[in-house]
Amino acid sequence: MSTESGIPDYRSQGGIWQKFKPVYLDEFISDENKRILYWQRKKELWQGIKNGQPGRAHLFFKELYDSGKLMGLITQNIDGLHEKSGLPKDLMVNLHGTNLEITCLRCGDITDAHELFDDLDLEHGAPLCVNCGGLLKPNTISFGQQLRGEDLDKASTLALSCDLMIAAGSTLLVQPAASYPVIANENGAVLAIITLSETPLDDVADFVFHEKLSDFLDLLYETPFF
Ligand SMILES: [Zn+2]
Repeated sequence: MSTESGIPDYRSQGGIWQKFKPVYLDEFISDENKRILYWQRKKELWQGIKNGQPGRAHLFFKELYDSGKLMGLITQNIDGLHEKSGLPKDLMVNLHGTNLEITCLRCGDITDAHELFDDLDLEHGAPLCVNCGGLLKPNTISFGQQLRGEDLDKASTLALSCDLMIAAGSTLLVQPAASYPVIANENGAVLAIITLSETPLDDVADFVFHEKLSDFLDLLYETPFF
């Protein structure tokens, strides 16, 4: 979805997790050195996140929304590009959180990431909450951190109430995201998969397009009925 926008992929060959050993949540909480390391990495990625612009695939879903056809969007992406495309926040389920927000692990306060990164100085330690002194962390789900119950509920509700689910740009290998197309399909929704690689759900899907999203959109916009 976001590779066209210059956002690196996390899991594929050459992806972020091949370069960096992840910092787990318990390490982040207990070890100041790990916290600093985590923030240094986020700081390196920040310019890309700050300047990232929605690609055609993001704009395609915004177009569906504008024409009244999109009731929700479930994503594992943490780059905030769907929000930047203009999709309302309450329509979205950011299963893995978002890099555009900072949260306090103690009081739960959520602030805009721009303010913090603009004058982030790690010389004096990892940043702390101005309200309660708790540890601040980008509002993303770290390794070893549970997904939010309210997000899982919202995603299930969407899967159970849609009549078409489009699984776009996902290998459908990572849970729980991969379970929502199954729930939708078992509940009678039409399932369309658009992704370059084969997926475990190809056999049950109603439509399968093994294309890059950009190539798929080229084909789509060429069709006369669209
Ligand atoms: Zn706090």
